[in-house]
Amino acid sequence: MNAGLFGGTFNPLHNGHIDVIKYVKQAFHLQKIFLFPSATPPHKSMTELAPARDRLDMVKGWVTEQDGFYASDIELKRKGPSFTIDTIKAFKKSAFENEIFKKKHGLQLNFSLLMGSDAFFDITTWKKQELIFRAIPIIVMLRGDRTGIEPIASFIDEHISKGYKLNKGLTKFTHKQMQPICICNVPKIDISSTMIRARVKENLSIKGLVPANVENIIKEKDLYK
Ligand code: ATP
Repeated sequence: MNAGLFGGTFNPLHNGHIDVIKYVKQAFHLQKIFLFPSATPPHKSMTELAPARDRLDMVKGWVTEQDGFYASDIELKRKGPSFTIDTIKAFKKSAFENEIFKKKHGLQLNFSLLMGSDAFFDITTWKKQELIFRAIPIIVMLRGDRTGIEPIASFIDEHISKGYKLNKGLTKFTHKQMQPICICNVPKIDISSTMIRARVKENLSIKGLVPANVENIIKEKDLYK
């Protein structure tokens, strides 16, 4: 069974996240996608960051209405900054030895890591990035902000490894020792968490930009004011 892991600050979760992961789920035949909010994002400024519990509740509230999407608090339970390599290991460990997880999600999960192209271009600053490329296939969602495969190909060549080969369809980089890096051209959706926070601050409507449950949490908790 194919499963996607999708981490983010989700500050807040918005329809851009949702539309692209729904698209990738279909395109890559993923039966499940696990969304995991990060507790202390090592790469993001901490100003305007809603409490982790609220961001998790946003994701939890949305997944309860969906088939094949799950919320995970795996990064919130760990102390200190959240590093993706540790999360990947923790998911694999649960899939292998956690009886409750196995009962709920089945015995054989092939995980892939989903990330937007902006996060991918930032990956060289991530802890133990080489281990990530060895541990898990990556699906890069091309957000349309950097068009075409060229920038990805030269980034991989320059910063990750010269050993990757691009397939004829220009959708997959393979390597003898590393897991594949796949490219998914997702529809361009001009929504970001930054934009949502700015709209809330200016008392502008965020209807249609975030799921209804997220809008409610932002209102109830008076976030981003
Ligand atoms: P911020 O505006 O605060 O930087 P964000 O909207 O980019 O946040 P994150 O929670 O940091 O959201 O993103 C999690 C992942 O979702 C990242 O890999 C990011 O590239 C991807 N992502 C976010 N918004 C979109 C979008 N509109 N289209 C495609 N991918 C997106």
